[in-house]
Amino acid sequence: MSHPARDLVDRLQNSQPPNKQLGQHFLINEGVLDSIIASAQLQKEDHILEIGPGPGVLTQRLMESGATVSAVEIDAVICDHLRKEFPTLNLTHQDALIHDWPREINAIVANIPYQISSPLIEKMTHYEHIKRAVIMVQEEFAHRLNQTTYSDHCSLGMVARLDWKIELAQKVPPHFFSPQPKVQSRIVLLSRIPRPEHWRLIRELIQHTYAQRRKKIRNTLRKSGGRFLSLGPWKHEWNSLIQSFENKWMDARPEELGFDDWCDFATKIIQHYHRCIDI
Ligand code: SAH
Repeated sequence: MSHPARDLVDRLQNSQPPNKQLGQHFLINEGVLDSIIASAQLQKEDHILEIGPGPGVLTQRLMESGATVSAVEIDAVICDHLRKEFPTLNLTHQDALIHDWPREINAIVANIPYQISSPLIEKMTHYEHIKRAVIMVQEEFAHRLNQTTYSDHCSLGMVARLDWKIELAQKVPPHFFSPQPKVQSRIVLLSRIPRPEHWRLIRELIQHTYAQRRKKIRNTLRKSGGRFLSLGPWKHEWNSLIQSFENKWMDARPEELGFDDWCDFATKIIQHYHRCIDI
C-alpha cells in the first residue's frame, strides 16, 4: 500500500478544513478500507465508479486492484489534491447526481456523502448495467434500505427491493472517521436481481401510496382516479376496481404491507385491467 490513510487525510486537511455540509468525514481505519475492498470482490474486467473519493483512501486501493476506476467529486480543492496524488485517476469534478456516469461502469464502491444516499440509490437503479455496489451509509439508512424491522418499512426500501438484493455488512463506529460523524455507519452490499413482472406498476403503487403514508390505501387510491398508473387513465373501471379489492390491501396503511403483498396487489390490478379492456 503506497499511502497510509491517515497521511492522505492529513495532506488534504492541510489544504482546507473539512466541509460537513458536503458530508466530509474521511475514513482513517485501514481495516474497514480492507473490508470494503474484500466485499467488492474486484476483477480486472470491472469498471468501478467511486462517488466522493475525498482524500483518496479508498481510491488508491481500488486502483491497486487492477480494475478500471472512475471517480466523481464535487469539491474543487479535493479534486486538485486527487490530481496531484493520483495523476492517472479518471476524475470528474461534478455533483454525482448531475454527472452522466460512464456507460461502462458495472459497479459502485464508495464511502458516499450520506446526505445524497436516497437519490443515489434511485440513480443507480436506473443505470441497469450497474450490477453491484458496496457503499458505506448511515446505520439508520441501512436499516431502512434493508427493511430490517416493521418500523423500517418505507417507500425507499420497498422500491429498492424490486431491483436489489440488500445485505448489511460491518457496522462502523464514528472514531474510524476524521472528523468523526455523530452517527454510526454501516457497509451495505447491493446485488442486482431480475425485475419482477409489473415492475413499473409496483413502483408507482408504493411511491404513490407512501406519499400519504398515514392514510388507508383505499382513500389514496380513490382520489387518484387511476391516473398515476402506467396503464393510463381508466376512471370508470377504477371505481369498480377499488370496490372489488380485498380489504386486506385497501384497509391497510402502506407500511403494513410487505414486499409480496405489493407484488400480489399489482398482479390483481393488472388482471382486473385486462378483464375490463377485454369486455
Ligand atoms: N470516500 C472518502 C470521502 C468520504 S466523505 C473517504 O472514505 O474518506 C464524502 C465525499 O463526497 C467528500 O469528498 C465530498 O466532498 C464528496 N461529495 C459530497 N457531495 C457530493 C456530490 N453531490 N457529488 C460528488 N461528491 C460529493
